[in-house]
Amino acid sequence: MANQCKFWDCFEKISPVHTFCGDHFEWAQAGDIDDCPLCDRGKFSKYPLCTDCETNSSDSIKTDNTKLATIHLLSVVNDLMTMVNSDTAGWPDEKLRQLDRLEHAANMVRKELQSG
Ligand SMILES: [Zn+2]
Ligand SMILES: [Zn+2]
Repeated sequence: MANQCKFWDCFEKISPVHTFCGDHFEWAQAGDIDDCPLCDRGKFSKYPLCTDCETNSSDSIKTDNTKLATIHLLSVVNDLMTMVNSDTAGWPDEKLRQLDRLEHAANMVRKELQSG
């Protein structure tokens, strides 16, 4: 996992310090690639899910606006968690508890969505 490109259907071998292969890294830098909110692999940002997750989830995901909105919300929460988690030193307990709750809730939503 550590030395394979993070993009969902790319099996390019890469150095362990890198996340994406050369091509996908450039796309990620340009903002064309972000993380799939369900499986955490790279996907094209214009789609809500990677093709793998989209195929595995029920057809309703594309037509169900509530589900689609939930996926977008989850993806924003994921970004926020990634950003904040490296920065919690010195946070008061109350704040950390709220972050835990958010993470827990996000995991539950992810599981619901994965089960279609
Ligand atoms: Zn790649
Ligand atoms: Zn996915």
